[in-house]
Amino acid sequence: MNDKIIILGAGISGLAAGYYLKRSGKSSKIFEKNHSWGGLCDNFTINNFRFDRFVHLSFTEDKAANDLFLNATPYIRHTPNPFNLYYGKWIKHPAQNNLYPLTEEEKVKILNDIKNRKEIPVDKINNYEEWLRTQYGDYFAEKFPMRYTKKYWQTEARDLGVKWVGNRMYRPSYDEVALGCRSTETPLAYYAKEMRYPEKGGFKAFFTTLAKDLDIQNRSQIMEIDYSEKVIKDEYGNMYSYDILISSIPLPELVKITKDVSDEVRLAAKMLRCTSGYQLSIGLKTKSIPPYLWFYIYDEDIPVARVYSPSLKSADNAPDNCSSLQLEIYCNENKYSKKDLIDKSLNKLVAAGVFKIEDILLTDLRFEKYANVIFNHDIYKNRKIVRDFYDNIGIYTIGRFGEWDYFWSDQSFLSGKLAAELILSEKGSNGVLNY
Ligand SMILES: Cc1cc2nc3c(=O)[nH]c(=O)nc-3n(C[C@H](O)[C@H](O)[C@H](O)COP(=O)(O)OP(=O)(O)OC[C@H]3O[C@@H](n4cnc5c(N)ncnc54)[C@H](O)[C@@H]3O)c2cc1C
Repeated sequence: MNDKIIILGAGISGLAAGYYLKRSGKSSKIFEKNHSWGGLCDNFTINNFRFDRFVHLSFTEDKAANDLFLNATPYIRHTPNPFNLYYGKWIKHPAQNNLYPLTEEEKVKILNDIKNRKEIPVDKINNYEEWLRTQYGDYFAEKFPMRYTKKYWQTEARDLGVKWVGNRMYRPSYDEVALGCRSTETPLAYYAKEMRYPEKGGFKAFFTTLAKDLDIQNRSQIMEIDYSEKVIKDEYGNMYSYDILISSIPLPELVKITKDVSDEVRLAAKMLRCTSGYQLSIGLKTKSIPPYLWFYIYDEDIPVARVYSPSLKSADNAPDNCSSLQLEIYCNENKYSKKDLIDKSLNKLVAAGVFKIEDILLTDLRFEKYANVIFNHDIYKNRKIVRDFYDNIGIYTIGRFGEWDYFWSDQSFLSGKLAAELILSEKGSNGVLNY
């Protein structure tokens, strides 16, 4: 059988699908709307400063992913050293067991809360706010993660479910919290113990083996899918027929371009929520920046939620004697004027002592419509309606926004790999990928 296989999107999930099909002798054609492959793992360069789209370090433990990523390029091993900026205080991450810089009064409140916390089974917890209050007590929950939730997730904690939390939030014992109140010498409690990053070429260098021999047509946005005729149309009006279609396009966008979709599916897709926001990239003519790969900011008057340093990930990301930072600001596209957003963010970080205004060589602001899937209470119901529809019409939906899940790059990779395996094993009629 010589099926015509089309893949929509050359992010890591689409590349993985194409790579594993190719390895088994099946060719595919990938359509990508951007000018280069990589999707969210791609990067851009301005005046010899390279910036990934978002923080991007690899901490996968999956063997197939590591074999491909780490053999593709020489890489640097980082021990994660994230910090938190909390009203002028630098607090090691996770804050809950590194409270040393707080006042005695705050420490006593938090320790009392932790001592008196009740064990409530997770199935009796209704939302993320309850989960946070149960784990950390009211004072810490309100001052730290609930504030951060609003900044990062653009959502109140009570409007989120808890299934997504997994090991992302560290749950220390009372003794660990007490130790962190007395001393800065606390063990590393971040969920990844090593983070890897290519020496050269930015994060996407990990995926060069995947992309190497694939037929990728860049600058080709797909505008229409007619599943009855098995035809897609690109932005120039060209039509392509397919036997098998795999899509990593975000589900709400996919529904918009699919013909003959019921109102129920359209409505469910509209209800799928994700965070959107800006990346403000900064090139500096100094190496004097905070020594943390990334840090979180809790202050409500600073719009920036998280900052990371491309030049600390690899010196190859900045010219000699220079450094770089990238700031994440989550908000709707029209919340601030671009000038206000840049001025407000820069001024606040200068005031917090992160860098000096006279050291800035360049700034660049870009908006990302699709950042993180929001796990509100309706996500499971709505996601199922949309994914069942594509399953029924035989279109594979893969990746972070095709499966509509909180996937790291390795999980997006595995999602594309699994679609290829399903097709190759000819169990291909079931496009639903289950983890
Ligand atoms: C803030 C943030 C930080 C992250 N940090 C990390 C990290 O440190 N480590 C890690 O492992 N992972 C991280 N991730 C996750 C990682 O970025 C994703 O899991 C992965 O990049 C998703 O790949 P994908 O192929 O599923 O989706 P995408 O990368 O979004 O690929 C989809 C592709 O489809 C294309 N497309 C869309 N519409 C069309 C159309 N109509 N026609 C043609 N092409 C189209 C897009 O241009 C895109 O290239 C982070 C993500 C975010 C948002």
